[in-house]
Amino acid sequence: MALRKIREIGDPILNKTCKEVKEVTDRTKDLIDDMFETMYEAQGVGLAAPQVGIRKRILKRIVVIDCGDDPLLLINPEVLETSGEQTGQEGCLSVPGKAGIVTRPNYAKVKAYNEDMEEFIVEGEELLARALLHEIDHLDGHLYVEKVEGDLMDVVPDDEDEMEEEE
Ligand code: ZN
Repeated sequence: MALRKIREIGDPILNKTCKEVKEVTDRTKDLIDDMFETMYEAQGVGLAAPQVGIRKRILKRIVVIDCGDDPLLLINPEVLETSGEQTGQEGCLSVPGKAGIVTRPNYAKVKAYNEDMEEFIVEGEELLARALLHEIDHLDGHLYVEKVEGDLMDVVPDDEDEMEEEE
């Protein structure tokens, strides 16, 4: 396992449409392990493959999420159904130090495949629905900042050492 560098907004890789995973190779498994490690290290609740994508390789439709319940791996996720509405603060590991208000459905039903390419369904409400839809957007080259109402806000990082106060 290895930490990967998280690509940041402005990097064209983040705007690419990712390709379906046809088979889970050892290299795919390495990518998945690295995605979980990178997400936990960065204290995120989700990460999509293009955020740690390697320029010369095909970008894959893979998402990892952990909202605090269970780690979730979604290969080739597809939104089947959404309903309701929630408005709340959202952030992204590719837009460090920022957050914005985004309205999304309050419920999402998603079909995906696990590491053995077995199909499963995941349903989420509130934070999980938000995370599912945010991460799946990444696979089509979209960032949450496109959906933000008003301006992006500065957020105080957990690690104070990394950011000096600007006077
Ligand atoms: Zn994101």
